[in-house]
Amino acid sequence: MESMTNTAATLPDFVQSLPKVELHLHIEGTLEPEMLLTLARRNGVHIPYRTIDAARAAYQFADLQSFLQVYYLGGSVLRKERDFYELTQAYLARCKVQRIRHAELFFDPQTHLANGVALEAVIGGIHAALRDAERDWDISSALILCFERDRDPEPAVALLERACRLGGIVGIGLDSAELGHPPGRFQEVFAVAGSLGLHRVAHAGEEGPPAYIWQALDVLGVERIDHGVRCLEDPVLVHRLVDDRVPLTVCPFSNVALKVFDQLSTHNLARLLKAGLWVTINSDDPAYFGGYLNENMIDTLSCLNLTARDALILERNAVTAAFCSDQRKQSLLKELDEYGASPQNGL
Ligand SMILES: [Zn+2]
Repeated sequence: MESMTNTAATLPDFVQSLPKVELHLHIEGTLEPEMLLTLARRNGVHIPYRTIDAARAAYQFADLQSFLQVYYLGGSVLRKERDFYELTQAYLARCKVQRIRHAELFFDPQTHLANGVALEAVIGGIHAALRDAERDWDISSALILCFERDRDPEPAVALLERACRLGGIVGIGLDSAELGHPPGRFQEVFAVAGSLGLHRVAHAGEEGPPAYIWQALDVLGVERIDHGVRCLEDPVLVHRLVDDRVPLTVCPFSNVALKVFDQLSTHNLARLLKAGLWVTINSDDPAYFGGYLNENMIDTLSCLNLTARDALILERNAVTAAFCSDQRKQSLLKELDEYGASPQNGL
């Protein structure tokens, strides 16, 4: 009993200063209500909220579909290269405060193209902020282009080729409304990405069934599964994920906000770990789901009676699963080892 009390008391401090890696983060999902209103005003975009409180009240959801409606409305205020720079810079400033040492960002170019924004402005703005954070704060990063699975897959290859000509993309992903949109529809663009040497990931098994995870692995050839929490419904799939060491980028606050689980205390993250799966914790769309990486980790670990030792395991998993150079991985693993070995951290 005494040791449990000690663990609970030290866990928030331990997690806050722990060097961390974020692998599942949609940059559009970091748009806080304050910036939403500022950009709407600056760009003359009409949105149905007049105050920060009204915008915050709208950030409440019943499921993925109702979330996406608010999310894409938010994305519509991003119009200029400067907007993408400021959005990304604000997230990276939080990374600095939260001691996130490496961040992999998703972005949804199809949303912005549909709003009449040039691809150059989107990628240029995000990339400039990533470069500045690496130079000023030693935060390394990677940019992953996501295709929206509820759109037509046909123009995806041409978009990928345009993005590659601009440079700066390390991989592709698949996001947006999962149910009714199996990953296999995007086989062609994932094959092209593979032939170009790009990394491949996909959202699967969040609201969708284990069959979508199988498709992401076998049809799209992904290296990581984003979410993947429903894999436990299929023991054969769990074996496959364990044997092939496929990382899962789990996002607990997102899962609760979108009602995949009723509450954090019923989340299956501890069972995923116990099954030997390669689990990481991430924040997904933190402005919409009530917290960034530290809040996700602290609250989830506390609710599931997990410890500082588990936090260290989760971050070792995340470093190893990252799309950065071996040299950077070794340096981050060393930071983690030194942090874990430090007597004042109470492990
Ligand atoms: Zn996501």
